[in-house]
Amino acid sequence: MVNFDISSPVLVTGATGYVAGHIVKRLLEEGVTVHSAVRNPSDKEKLKHLITIAENSPGEIVFFQSDLLKEGSYSEAMKGCSLVFHTASPFIWNVNDPQKDLIDPALIGTRNVLNEVNRTESVQRVILTSSLVAIYGDNVDISNAPNGILTEEVWNTSSSLHRNPYSFSKTVAEKDAWEIAGSQSRWDMVVLNPGVVLGPGITPFTTSESFRIVKGFGDGTFKYGIAHLEMGAVDVRDLAEAHLAATRKDTQPGRYIVNGHNTSMFELAELLRDRFGKEYPLPKKVLPKWLAWLLTPLLVRSLTREYISRNMNHPFRADNSKSINNLGLTYRPLSQTINEMFQQMADAGIFKN
Ligand code: NAP
Repeated sequence: MVNFDISSPVLVTGATGYVAGHIVKRLLEEGVTVHSAVRNPSDKEKLKHLITIAENSPGEIVFFQSDLLKEGSYSEAMKGCSLVFHTASPFIWNVNDPQKDLIDPALIGTRNVLNEVNRTESVQRVILTSSLVAIYGDNVDISNAPNGILTEEVWNTSSSLHRNPYSFSKTVAEKDAWEIAGSQSRWDMVVLNPGVVLGPGITPFTTSESFRIVKGFGDGTFKYGIAHLEMGAVDVRDLAEAHLAATRKDTQPGRYIVNGHNTSMFELAELLRDRFGKEYPLPKKVLPKWLAWLLTPLLVRSLTREYISRNMNHPFRADNSKSINNLGLTYRPLSQTINEMFQQMADAGIFKN
């Protein structure tokens, strides 16, 4: 599968993350030496899942201490690498200081990583984990996209430091990355723009917002009903395959929407109902907009009234054909994705906390 030079190592930034876990796993299975850049390599508890996978795979894992906010922090980790997977970036919806907590690590971090790529002769390609939220800000914006469908041509123009700052962080970081990539010709860049990532992690204990979203289905947050919010979703294992496909020499540089399904929060609950409906307080109905507008911000602090107004009852549609035709992806069924994730979280006791 991997056909860049894999006799040399590859770098994965943010290797402790939910998305990165599956990328590292697949690379190790392919026999690659993975330089894993993490903030705290002495936190053995946090690294133990990766170490166990490496022990049972043909590839090798080597940990490096790196921080997105420190200039030069990736130099040791990148030495001799042919490929750089840049996944590190905080995915948190609810923050106190959006500049410090989201924009700086996304933007300054991407600059630091790509400046290091410029200094590291061995790197041939960067694979950047961006997001669908670099393509659109709120569902209401999608009606302005050509034919009301998101494609790789579209950019998020509505998010800002104060409106959907996470989406803003991904937008400015990806834009900056294209600028840096475009100012040289030694290395190229493939950018993946996934929808909400779901499915079991290599560990269920992560900082990713993905797990907070699903927790609400099991802990009673939505027991009185849920807002009708449509969105894109992709299995974390399919996203890892997309990262692997990006390493093929015949994969053209550019953006790829990686989105298995156009779905909604209520549809996710419906998919869980047969297996978990008796035991867990899944939402049974969609709330009317006025009630969702009043109630949702009280239940989920990060979902503001403005967010509900600009997203609820507005359709979500994204075109994933480029990922199918050019990356060769096949997406697994959403029911499998959400049920396996929920089961993993239930087994780990996450709904009781
Ligand atoms: P995650 O599990 O929270 O992973 C985030 C990673 O970023 C962690 O490894 C974290 O390291 C690292 N990080 C954060 N701040 C850092 C800093 N200052 N220096 C170095 N590393 C830092 O979240 P995820 O869901 O896997 O997200 C991974 C990537 O996928 C992000 O770029 C995110 O925007 C993108 N993405 C995610 C989704 C989704 O639904 N999950 C959707 C689209 C795109 P620590 O372990 O040390 O905190």
